[in-house]
Amino acid sequence: MTDRPTPTPRGEENIYFEEARAHRLAFQQCESCGARVFYPRTVCPVCLSDRLSLRQAAGTGTVHSFTTLHRAGHPGLADRVPYTVVLVDLDEGVRVLADLVVSPEADVPWIGMPVQAVFDEVTPELTLPRFQATAGAR
Ligand SMILES: [Zn+2]
Repeated sequence: MTDRPTPTPRGEENIYFEEARAHRLAFQQCESCGARVFYPRTVCPVCLSDRLSLRQAAGTGTVHSFTTLHRAGHPGLADRVPYTVVLVDLDEGVRVLADLVVSPEADVPWIGMPVQAVFDEVTPELTLPRFQATAGAR
């Protein structure tokens, strides 16, 4: 069996995965201009300040867009297809890319669908945020 590919965080990306291990969905906020920033960076993409503070998202948002993959892009994902990837606009105003957890009773995802983050402990070192439809969305 081929191993499932996993992210290899570098530099400032590590903090996102450290937070995910603690089941927290993190983003940054610029202390200079107030911009909310995702993914984690060393400088604000709006004003170039390095005064970025970590914030914790509530984990709720809506689907901005989605796609369902029917062909695995890596042999390690062959047993997962089909699976759906969603772009989620978190309530805090940042956009996050992640897998959608589809339950047997769930409908096909739709743009605007309310979702909430869940945490998949892939390995002891790696936890990945995913999203699932909130209870009222089905
Ligand atoms: Zn800024």
